[in-house]
Amino acid sequence: MEQVTAETEPKKKYLLQHDRPNCIGCAACATVSEKHWEMNADGKSDIIGGKSREDGWQELDLEEVDFEKNLEAAESCPVNVIHVTDKETGKKVI
Ligand code: SF4
Repeated sequence: MEQVTAETEPKKKYLLQHDRPNCIGCAACATVSEKHWEMNADGKSDIIGGKSREDGWQELDLEEVDFEKNLEAAESCPVNVIHVTDKETGKKVI
């Protein structure tokens, strides 16, 4: 179990993004991270609770504690349509 310390207290430090139009619906992300990803009836995945942009992408602010799992989900995506950005530095992690 993850330990909650002063350094890991909830903070929206990362931005999770999904280039949904290019998702091929393989379900890898939903298998890796059930908390943040689910499959939609249209065959593509959705970020649970994510905001949809006009261009079809989805976004969600992530707390530090959810970073690793989503990084894993992004790494599992065969078409690299999941991205994570560090909001403090503006640097794209993946
Ligand atoms: S792993 Fe990538 S391609 Fe597969 S469902 Fe998730 S976002 Fe779509």
